[in-house]
Amino acid sequence: MKLALIGFGQAGGKVVDEFLAFDDRIDGGFIESAVAVNSATTDLKGLEHVPRENRVLIGQARVKGHGVGADNELGAAVAEEDIDEIQGAIDSIPVHEIDAFLVVAGMGGGTGSGGAPVLAKHLKRIYTQPVYGLGILPGMDEGGIYTLNAARSFQTFVDEVDNLLVFDNDVWRSAGESVEGGYDRINREIVERFGLLFAAGEVEEGDHVAESVVDSSEIINTLSNGISTIGYASETVETNSGLLSSLTGGDDFDEGAATNRMTSLVRKAALGRLTLPCDVASADRGLVVATGPPSHLNRKGVERGRQWLEDETGSMEIRGGDYPIPHRDEVGAIVLLSGVTDVPRIDQLQQVAIEAQETTEEVRATAEEDFSSLMDTGGELDALF
Ligand code: GDP
Repeated sequence: MKLALIGFGQAGGKVVDEFLAFDDRIDGGFIESAVAVNSATTDLKGLEHVPRENRVLIGQARVKGHGVGADNELGAAVAEEDIDEIQGAIDSIPVHEIDAFLVVAGMGGGTGSGGAPVLAKHLKRIYTQPVYGLGILPGMDEGGIYTLNAARSFQTFVDEVDNLLVFDNDVWRSAGESVEGGYDRINREIVERFGLLFAAGEVEEGDHVAESVVDSSEIINTLSNGISTIGYASETVETNSGLLSSLTGGDDFDEGAATNRMTSLVRKAALGRLTLPCDVASADRGLVVATGPPSHLNRKGVERGRQWLEDETGSMEIRGGDYPIPHRDEVGAIVLLSGVTDVPRIDQLQQVAIEAQETTEEVRATAEEDFSSLMDTGGELDALF
């Protein structure tokens, strides 16, 4: 499906940048336009793929290009004040060509955390296309303020978008990795999953169209509301262009093995590491997409995987289809779970945030009292004026 991507804040901009590189690499064609919005000049300058004319600096009057720190209330305020500047960049998007907007942001910081929900609300008021969010949750070790920001932004963002796709940095970190190196790897993981899903709805006629290719309306129907998470599993396979098949004369592989492989890839995708871990049974809707070289996309395998997911979720709304990618040496399964409700990480985030909010209020009240008592001389000392 064709998307207009808008990256808000540093994480949002970097992930959109990575989406553009991925779309190019797989020749996906799922990005119609990409815009980056930030209150920090240096973050915008650091992007590589978002066109310069689509980089929007907001909040100049207040923060002079230095960013809002981790103040997401300020992030929301500058987004509201400069919404016309953002709209200016969106005006250059041929909106009639797109199937949906996707607003991407890290939820623990300031600019994206505060600004993304403001922009989503604005887009929904103006356009008829669905507006999706891709929200990135902070690691638990980032500290109370990031958790509090993320919990408050999450609460707001969910209400303003048609569906919030979630990625949790906390489950995707690796020990011993530098923060920067870690984000580069994590960003590639993000775009591979969400990128393959969106590219799936963008197969042109004549592009090895299988009968059961996923259509963008199936993605849109699966994303009708709530929160979503994605699982992905893949295996390297020998393609037609590979040495082995050219020696053996081509498409000579075991059909039964291909069915079993696809069925177990679907299970692995759903039961392995999800972008937001949750109880699979709590999903309201689902979509299974088989990706890879057309000859390996086994219909029976997808159908079995789809039925298995129906049993796991008890949902009658599990869709399935193919995304043929010729020349790829990997066969994979994407499982999109939508309308999930049993998500321990969100409960934990909210709990820690409520505690952080209470502690902040207590500390502030105590500090005010302590200051008053420090300055209290019982009226014996006169101030100058
Ligand atoms: P903003 O610029 O004020 O919106 O804030 P940032 O985007 O810099 O940071 C917000 C949160 O996003 C951080 O707390 C991190 O959890 C996360 N984050 C920052 N940079 C990246 C990145 O490149 N990739 C990912 N996955 N997360 C990031």
